[in-house]
Amino acid sequence: MLRTNSGRGGGRSAALLALGLLVCVLAAACGKDGSPPVKGPRAEALPVYQVDEGFQLPDSPTWSKAKRRGYLVVGAKEDQPYLGEKDPASGVYSGFDIEIARMMAASLGFEPRTIRFRTIASANRETALQNGQIDYYVGTYTINDLRKKLVGFAGPYYMAGQGLLVRTDENDIDGPQDLDGKTVCSAAGSTPYQRIAEDYPKAVLVAYDTYSICVDNLLTFQVDAVTTDDAILLGFAAKAPDEMKVVGKPFSEEPYGIGVPRTDNALRAALNDALEAGEKNGDWKKAFEATLGRSGVPAPTPPPIDRYPAN
Ligand code: GLU
Repeated sequence: MLRTNSGRGGGRSAALLALGLLVCVLAAACGKDGSPPVKGPRAEALPVYQVDEGFQLPDSPTWSKAKRRGYLVVGAKEDQPYLGEKDPASGVYSGFDIEIARMMAASLGFEPRTIRFRTIASANRETALQNGQIDYYVGTYTINDLRKKLVGFAGPYYMAGQGLLVRTDENDIDGPQDLDGKTVCSAAGSTPYQRIAEDYPKAVLVAYDTYSICVDNLLTFQVDAVTTDDAILLGFAAKAPDEMKVVGKPFSEEPYGIGVPRTDNALRAALNDALEAGEKNGDWKKAFEATLGRSGVPAPTPPPIDRYPAN
């Protein structure tokens, strides 16, 4: 096929190559399921969120500051397949959490080009929100009472559960009860890490900043299992099904929320309204099916929004 530069047939070959590329681009299907990322988010299937041009939220200090600044700063993950991923070449973020973040931005009156994503690891989410480094956070962030003392949460917008990821040749681990004496990796500052530390003290627990480092450690036989939410683990397994598998049943409930500064109740209420609207008008389902749904997680009914009293 690489004949384009040689001799007389060159012009025609070049034209054919160009035509092929064009067809590819038009169909947006160059390896629909083939070229990397394998079964990645389907850009062409993503919803276009209606930007609420006249939106005002003067009671929210976070919104007011972002409006004056001219753009939103949104905290996210960058290494969680189908949830929050950053393309190393283009710097573009994609995944279900990223779609939720975009859906929220549109309802707050921000155009897509006025969103700046910033990667924040699990252990640094609360401080990032407290210091005003980010306006809100969307990244597999479990709502719980302890965290509610430090930050606010809109949502939940998805319900995950803790699981275990092992190498495909592993036959001894089928649930957390099998972890005695095994080396298990999770992210510092996460609820799955905390749960193993408290409920399964005989497991040898190691922590890194991110789950992708844990997965590298699993593949190089440094650890026996990786533990976090099933939604995250299924994404890693879907990218390397010959090497890794998710085992057992989920053993916790991890309701995902959008983190906001703790006392910004106006922003929290507006995001809850936006989530409800997106769930009603079909955007939520479309976003799910074009992202997380591609890792094999079936589209669930989103959990009910928890509008807890003002902080
Ligand atoms: N959902 C869990 C948590 O918020 C685990 C995933 C994560 O670390 O982001 O801690």
